[in-house]
Amino acid sequence: MGIFTKLRGMRDILPEEIDIWKKVEQTFIEISELFDFREIRVPILESKYLFEKGIGRDTDIVTKEMYEFKDKKGRDVVLRPEGTASVVRAYIENKIYEKRKIARFYYLGPMFRYDRPQKGRYRQFYQFGIECFGGKSFYFDGEAIQILNITLEKLSIGNFVFLVNSLGCKNCKFKYTEYIKGYLKKIVDKLCNDCKLRVKVNPLRVFDCKNYSCHQSIENIPSIFDFLCDECKEHFDLLANFLKKNNINFKIEHKLVRGLDYYTKTVFEVFCKNQDIAIAGGGRYDYLVKEMGGPDIPAVGFAVGLDRVVALLNQEKRQKDESIYFILLGEQAKIKGFDIMRELIENKIKVEADYEERSISEHLRIANKYGKKLCLILGENEIKKGVVVIKNMETGIQEEIKEKEIVKKLRERLK
Ligand code: AMP
Repeated sequence: MGIFTKLRGMRDILPEEIDIWKKVEQTFIEISELFDFREIRVPILESKYLFEKGIGRDTDIVTKEMYEFKDKKGRDVVLRPEGTASVVRAYIENKIYEKRKIARFYYLGPMFRYDRPQKGRYRQFYQFGIECFGGKSFYFDGEAIQILNITLEKLSIGNFVFLVNSLGCKNCKFKYTEYIKGYLKKIVDKLCNDCKLRVKVNPLRVFDCKNYSCHQSIENIPSIFDFLCDECKEHFDLLANFLKKNNINFKIEHKLVRGLDYYTKTVFEVFCKNQDIAIAGGGRYDYLVKEMGGPDIPAVGFAVGLDRVVALLNQEKRQKDESIYFILLGEQAKIKGFDIMRELIENKIKVEADYEERSISEHLRIANKYGKKLCLILGENEIKKGVVVIKNMETGIQEEIKEKEIVKKLRERLK
């Protein structure tokens, strides 16, 4: 063990895992771009007040989980705990609403939450997210869910279900919250200390409590659906119909509220049954743009936890190392080897060389340990004859090939 270790809740993503990370990221990017979402890159460091206003002053994220500090001028800054508030800020600050009726963005990168680390929960984690501004139709909610669904299917993530709910518009949400407050006050003695506080500041958050006795106490609590106005009801019914028609596996979950205050109407979460874990969450936030100082523009989006998606795929077998291990014996071979490597690289053949002086048997042992399929061997004899040797590490078969044929033969052997 070295002297330095990573901070709690942080982790190193090592090269062996990177292929899976890239595959996951690229699949989300590919599908989102096909729906004409465009990448936006927003800062990792933002003003603390952005998230107080955006996510909500009384949410767990803002009260307990932000990495916050003062910069050299004494300004309160935070490492972003999520992406939506920043994208909304950028949307307003750059007056994108003047340029596009419907504006679709995707983003990707690290988020930071000072939460209690456990399996699948880190203090620095990665999200891919989309945000779509300007549409109030349920089809935009459906599109967001469909993008997630297609991407997860394309990645062969099995056994997941969309949990969906509606929190209603401002009026419905207010009416329901007031009702729940009254309901919870009557049973407050049965609730945990955290929930006692939630009853006062953010009653719906009691639904998210992990405490078993709180769960039990609210089991028969009336559903938000009894409080939805006609428009909110219709929005939800049409969306549910859309999901059915598109064969999306979903379940209506009345108690799903999500941990961020900005949601209205549709909220959803992707739940992975095998792992008992949520891999993505999202919903509609029709008032946030206005509340943050912009025009009255509705929006919908989601964020997916990439660490969790990668962990699901990581259980699959790792791929064999597909690069060629180039063994260069002696000074002349190293000089000549660079010409050959250049040709390989121009032909997009991955090659790894070790320039230290080692015996051929040591080189072969290393190649074996790395899991290489093919080695290319070049020494003085080969240079004289104008050939190189290809060794198949699985069968042990060696063959001499003419220098001019290297690319062609390697391609055949790599198939
Ligand atoms: P949220 O931004 O809270 O709606 O979370 C969206 C998704 O991000 C979740 O469903 C998780 O997959 C992922 N996520 C949230 N917090 C963490 C964390 N601390 N560590 C790893 N993934 C997380």
